[in-house]
Amino acid sequence: MTLPPGSTIGIIGGGQLGRMMSMAAAQLGYRCFIYAPESTGPAADVCAKWVQGDYADEKALAAFAASVDVVTFEFENVDPAPLRRIAENAPVHPPLEALEIGQDRIREKRFAAECNGRTADWAEVNSRTDLDQALNDIGLPAILKTTRFGYDGKGQARIMKAPDADAAWAALAEAGPLILEKMVRFTHEFSLLVARDQKGNIAFWDTPENVHKDGILATSRVPADAKVLEQVPAARAFARRMAERLDYVGVFTIEFFASDDGPVFNEMAPRVHNSGHWTIEGALTSQFENHIRAVVGLPLGSTRLSAPVVEMRNLIGADADKWLEWASDPLTHLHLYGKHEARPGRKMGHITRLGHI
Ligand code: AMP
Repeated sequence: MTLPPGSTIGIIGGGQLGRMMSMAAAQLGYRCFIYAPESTGPAADVCAKWVQGDYADEKALAAFAASVDVVTFEFENVDPAPLRRIAENAPVHPPLEALEIGQDRIREKRFAAECNGRTADWAEVNSRTDLDQALNDIGLPAILKTTRFGYDGKGQARIMKAPDADAAWAALAEAGPLILEKMVRFTHEFSLLVARDQKGNIAFWDTPENVHKDGILATSRVPADAKVLEQVPAARAFARRMAERLDYVGVFTIEFFASDDGPVFNEMAPRVHNSGHWTIEGALTSQFENHIRAVVGLPLGSTRLSAPVVEMRNLIGADADKWLEWASDPLTHLHLYGKHEARPGRKMGHITRLGHI
């Protein structure tokens, strides 16, 4: 069923992704209500209503769901159990199963393998003995990660040589269940931005090549290097299997390493993604608009490029202090998220250029 313009979309989470989703929804004539635990956030400037509530508060979530026509989310580190209640009061897209899988690195790797995807060698680690065993089985270098609630490289410790294991264990032992992953030797990192509508049509945007610094995305560029492009067909076939198994509705993102043996799955996010921000100006339909289109039951818009080269660069922490410089360049699209405090490592905004930055 297609929700008519004027309907209300409920978004769980009120950060920059919710802000850009709300702006895309408004363009199509829909209103967004945000549900988030904070008193305000980047989406507050552009949504029709901000509801402050805890992600675990089932009653408040149920009341929120009853006040909107459909629910989606922009923040995936939410316990899905209370969200299940929402489905009694409003349709929810994407499926909560995708949220559950994306939250747990172990479930995610198992699911990737079920969909015939390659992952780094990995092992579950619940004790110091497990870690020694896993290092023995997997070899070095490796990365110890929390299985849940990690993002932007947080909750990770690299083990380059055997003595690093002590420090890695000390840093993460208290952080819950862990996973040891073999370090993948990659030439590039890339992501697939995938949209699927309620009729099962799937669309991909051009594949961005992503560069991370200190575990945080620094830049995304289209077109990607030829080494990436040759791996895109295999990666897309895998993404289709994932989308179909989940009966996915909305946009999701899969991050890959381009290795000499083909694409290696890193992680998936059941949502719009930082590596797709360039689609606002760089594609005929942005990731935000197509997510909203899918959620309300509209067909997808074209994902074709609007320029031969598109580059997006994140403005992290003090980078955003140069806003006047970016705003003074007529060819730079400046996006600021309305965050008041520029803490180191915090995503304050991004810039996009149709052409090289
Ligand atoms: P993640 O939060 O797991 O995506 O990790 C953040 C970044 O750390 C990735 O984008 C990679 O640059 C690096 N990284 C994470 N896991 C691995 C791995 N298994 N092998 C090589 N690099 C990795």
